[in-house]
Amino acid sequence: MTEELENLLRPDLRGQTPYGAPQLDVPVQLNTNENAYAIPADVAAVIEEHLSREVRGLNRYPDRDATALRADFAAYLGHGLTADHVWAANGSNEILQQLLQAFGGPGRTVLGFMPSYSMHPLLARGTGTAFIDAGREDDYTLSADHVRRAITEHDPDLVFLVSPNNPTGTALDADVIEAAYEAARGIVIVDEAYVEFARDPNSTALNRLEGRRRLVVSRTMSKAFAFAGARVGYLAADPELVEKLLLVRLPYHLSSLTQAAARGALACAAQLQAEVDELKHQRDRIVKNLRAKGLPVADSDANFVLFGGLADAAAVWRAVLDQGVLIRDVGLPGCLRITAGTEEETTAFLDAVETVMARRPELFSTDS
Ligand SMILES: *Cc1c(COP(=O)(O)O)cnc(C)c1O
Repeated sequence: MTEELENLLRPDLRGQTPYGAPQLDVPVQLNTNENAYAIPADVAAVIEEHLSREVRGLNRYPDRDATALRADFAAYLGHGLTADHVWAANGSNEILQQLLQAFGGPGRTVLGFMPSYSMHPLLARGTGTAFIDAGREDDYTLSADHVRRAITEHDPDLVFLVSPNNPTGTALDADVIEAAYEAARGIVIVDEAYVEFARDPNSTALNRLEGRRRLVVSRTMSKAFAFAGARVGYLAADPELVEKLLLVRLPYHLSSLTQAAARGALACAAQLQAEVDELKHQRDRIVKNLRAKGLPVADSDANFVLFGGLADAAAVWRAVLDQGVLIRDVGLPGCLRITAGTEEETTAFLDAVETVMARRPELFSTDS
């Protein structure tokens, strides 16, 4: 039976493994870049009120075009955007999937620069789009030159840029995005899932949308809005590009409850920003503290930190887990990724690293 099903499966899916970040029940979970803070009580009350207004009307399909929510997103984004420039879906993963469905697909290519978001190749695979990895420099930076050359060489139908990048935390200079757009014939997507955590809050590709009709800025409520469980992502682009996405979206893809909850949370953006500020503070604390321990740490504009100096990353991951702290092995040699937590969680992580370094120095490869 197993073999029969395998043979019935699309050939390009045979033998593949699904996305699978471990979901372990440990006291301190700092492995999937979630916002460490629960929704504050006053924000929860606003969201509940929005939700409860929808319940009796659940016999009806939701607003298919999520017009009110898109207008709220446009107001949040500023930059003169309107509801027509915005699209919304169940997480930015669905946003990206719809972009690939509309502009990629069998016989087409999407270019990415790995290591980057692990879902990009998986979304490409699911939509039958060939994923081309053009890599990065050894220090994981990405230059305008590298991007230009890769695009010229491969002539992709779509390009994925991520700023700040996951898992490295690196923000892209504006000239890299400009170079990609100039060199590309196809759609250029800038995945800005973490942009609210950037040290320079104005460093967004939204600044460059005007007049660039193939440019897409993808965003999510999963990180800055502490809303990963609600599954809400959105994009900003030229209204004509947004219209094309209606060709592939499932009718009524975004439930009335999701739309209402998102509008409630958006109404509280200012309150939620306070927690973003605290997480940025904890992120900077992690960077400083790990560097003081002699570990090489990438500069981060996100809510997580990639650190190296590990002789055996898998063993360090396990030893830190034994201290009750779950972090992420992203598969980069000698490196691990840690999401900034609350002050207590961050302290628990830093203490765990200190303990492991003292007990098992052979797992590290620092100069100190
Ligand atoms: C977490 C993350 C997302 C968010 O995905 P959602 O589907 O919105 O939860 C998107 N892009 C990157 C690079 C991420 O790390």
